[in-house]
Amino acid sequence: MRAIQVQEPGKLSIVEIEKPKISSPYDVLVQVQCVGICGSDVHIYHGSNPFTVYPRVIGHEVSGVVAELGEGVESLQVGDRVSLEPIEFCGTCYACRKGQQNVCESLQVFGVHKDGGMSEFVKAHEQKWHKVNKSISAEAAALIEPLTIGAQATFRGGIQPGDTVFIMGAGPTGIACLLMAKEAGAYVMISDFNTVRLEYATSIGADAVFQPDKEDIEEAIYKETKGELANVVIDAVGTAGTFEQAVRLASVAGTVVTLGFNETPSQIPSLLLTKKELKVVGSRLQTNQFQGVVKKVNKGMISPDELISHRFHYEKVAEAFKKLEEHPEEVRKIVLTF
Ligand SMILES: [Zn+2]
Ligand SMILES: [Zn+2]
Repeated sequence: MRAIQVQEPGKLSIVEIEKPKISSPYDVLVQVQCVGICGSDVHIYHGSNPFTVYPRVIGHEVSGVVAELGEGVESLQVGDRVSLEPIEFCGTCYACRKGQQNVCESLQVFGVHKDGGMSEFVKAHEQKWHKVNKSISAEAAALIEPLTIGAQATFRGGIQPGDTVFIMGAGPTGIACLLMAKEAGAYVMISDFNTVRLEYATSIGADAVFQPDKEDIEEAIYKETKGELANVVIDAVGTAGTFEQAVRLASVAGTVVTLGFNETPSQIPSLLLTKKELKVVGSRLQTNQFQGVVKKVNKGMISPDELISHRFHYEKVAEAFKKLEEHPEEVRKIVLTF
């Protein structure tokens, strides 16, 4: 079968590899239909993902149709449309015992630590495949995973109906957070340097949008929240500066959620945390978010299609990467079709 492989940093090709075979009673083999391209795929391409080993078949935002089942599988049938939950964990370490399998000490992410979904077929345990209604498009099903990232940030932020939420960054992750925070009943503000991204955010329900290079964000948030500041601030940019600002912009009894992987230290006085009794929480990947998101997608309460801006046939993957790198402002999500 054919697969998209990063052989070494900077080298991306379509290769012929062996089609996976059912080898355990709970294996499910899926014929891939769509795969979203994520920032982390680009990082692997550039050699800037510390967890990956080359060569690597990339891709973790995957949908397809069940092609073959192990004899023990009961929850799925051949022909079902499914979306991949792309993480594997040990189940026994401290994180797993705490219910935070997403930070398991032996975490394996498809397309990062092990081969992923940009291939004609993918095999994974029954529990990693979530069935979606056939009325949901294959493209939409592939983008359930990025929505679960927004669902995780919403969960980690403890967002309640009526909360004011400020999301920094209106790229794909910020937009996923926006969709999920709105779905949770919050009043959502979002910022970005790019006007097109902000217009888009408004079109899908943002209550207020801000441009940090055109206005004083701290003043704008102060005004918009009548001096209370934001109950939950989600930093989807992740620079030293945005993290500092997130802490300043959080209200009393508020929560700051970080999604970035930046290694530059921020200067945050303990006074701000103590005085406002802030919670600062990280949000990485997701745990137990698929079921909730799939249910909402099946019911039509959220449409992952919202995230798609471009589509390419998988053989044109080089073109898709070029688009993403040269015009990131035009791209929300690119979906590859198989
Ligand atoms: Zn992703
Ligand atoms: Zn574990």
